[in-house]
Amino acid sequence: MMEKNCIFCKIIAGEIPSNTIYEDDLFRVILDASPASKGHALILPKQHYANIYEIDEEVAGKAFTLAKKLAAHMTEVLHCDGFNILQNNGEVAGQTVFHFHMHLIPRYKDGKNADILTWAHEEFTPEEIAAIRDSLKVDGTL
Ligand code: AMP
Ligand code: ZN
Repeated sequence: MMEKNCIFCKIIAGEIPSNTIYEDDLFRVILDASPASKGHALILPKQHYANIYEIDEEVAGKAFTLAKKLAAHMTEVLHCDGFNILQNNGEVAGQTVFHFHMHLIPRYKDGKNADILTWAHEEFTPEEIAAIRDSLKVDGTL
């Protein structure tokens, strides 16, 4: 379902041009307009889901399977030295386009953006860590 005013829905519908590198019945994969590195691409589900909370579980699984295949393909073509797969949810997490997408970011030893995806470490006491663990512990299977 297309969402009004969603730039990725418009790209999927062909209303806005994009550099598409792959398309099937469920996904379109485009080059990012402001790439972090050579070949930075985005996997877009054709159906509009705002984020990880909304996306259909089966589509999410297929998106990751596609990421695995494209990582291999892109690494072979681009000869990159590593690969990041990134997926932001919510403004505070860096999401700027509210249509679920996965970033495929080839990384190069001599790349300009050597420091993308690094963060300062936050400190927690052992008691805090135990409380976090206990609050997150899942009984049984999800
Ligand atoms: P995020 O910050 O995770 O929401 O990522 C959104 C990404 O979409 C950014 O990396 C943008 O550069 C990219 N982007 C925004 N508009 C376009 C567009 N029209 N075509 C291709 N990429 C886009
Ligand atoms: Zn959309």
